[in-house]
Amino acid sequence: MTSSELLNNPVILSTENITKQFGGLTAVDNVSIELHKGEILGLIGANGAGKTTLFNMISGSFRPTSGRIVFKGTQIQKMSPNKICRLGLGRTYQIVQPFMSLTVLENTMVGALLRHPGVKDAKKSAEEILEFVGLERRKDIVGSALNIPELKRMEVARALATEPSVLLLDEVMAGLNPSESAQVIELVRSIRDKGISIIIIEHVMKAIMNLSDRIYVLNQGKLIATGTPSDITQNSEVIKSYLGEKSYAKG
Ligand code: ATP
Repeated sequence: MTSSELLNNPVILSTENITKQFGGLTAVDNVSIELHKGEILGLIGANGAGKTTLFNMISGSFRPTSGRIVFKGTQIQKMSPNKICRLGLGRTYQIVQPFMSLTVLENTMVGALLRHPGVKDAKKSAEEILEFVGLERRKDIVGSALNIPELKRMEVARALATEPSVLLLDEVMAGLNPSESAQVIELVRSIRDKGISIIIIEHVMKAIMNLSDRIYVLNQGKLIATGTPSDITQNSEVIKSYLGEKSYAKG
């Protein structure tokens, strides 16, 4: 489906004028975004633009100062992270937070137990997910023995194990080399092909431009542009505030 055809799909997640203030700092300022079913949305902006704060509000870690978040028709801005996860929202963290002393399988089972309270079922589901993300051969290794690309995959596996309908990916390609990033791009596409809608924060421009159906650009907490990757690369305000410093814009 093309990015404009995807806009005909229903909106599965939206933020409506959400704002987050930390003391005198407005980290996210009156931001409204819409994720349509089946879309991959990119979220970009310079360091400190408010991207992770937006994720933290959507996933329930931070309560917005004002505004609404609607997920599958339900207002979630006051819900706990656990309840939001149960409703079908999964996320990864910029700084991966696995249980280092547990194995890859056990880490993934922590997610799977949400939908499969029986240990046997959770194990089966976790094993299927590890196969999907390409970690099945590492399943009995403890988290602390994994390298960065493997840790990132395990982080994705843990989120997928909660069986989300929307997945928020926070810099899953940070620290990866180009061939490792290319593999993650394929993985993200295959997650969407399972019917999961995705919002992805990423500084690797080649990846975000390649993957996203549409992109939202934040600058100092404010939304400054929305559009297809080609719209965004030609937007003079985006080039001035962000892309100008990126090799992508320099060709
Ligand atoms: P990066 O690309 O570096 O991850 P970002 O776009 O994700 O940046 P945020 O982490 O959302 O940006 O930060 C936005 C602003 O909010 C920054 O000025 C940051 O210092 C501030 N901020 C984030 N979390 C908190 C917090 N818990 N308390 C106070 N200020 C915060």
